[in-house]
Amino acid sequence: MVPDKNGHRWGWVVCCTCGARHIVSGTPKNPGNEAKRVDRFVKDHQH
Ligand SMILES: [Zn+2]
Repeated sequence: MVPDKNGHRWGWVVCCTCGARHIVSGTPKNPGNEAKRVDRFVKDHQH
């Protein structure tokens, strides 16, 4: 997670291996869903 310079709670996760990004909203409609998406992104990118 990389918070932006304005202090808003959003950011993104980046795969260092292939450079793919997943933008993470700080105010998702469904935080549980968003957490799962991030979790899946991380797992998918354990090359
Ligand atoms: Zn990757």
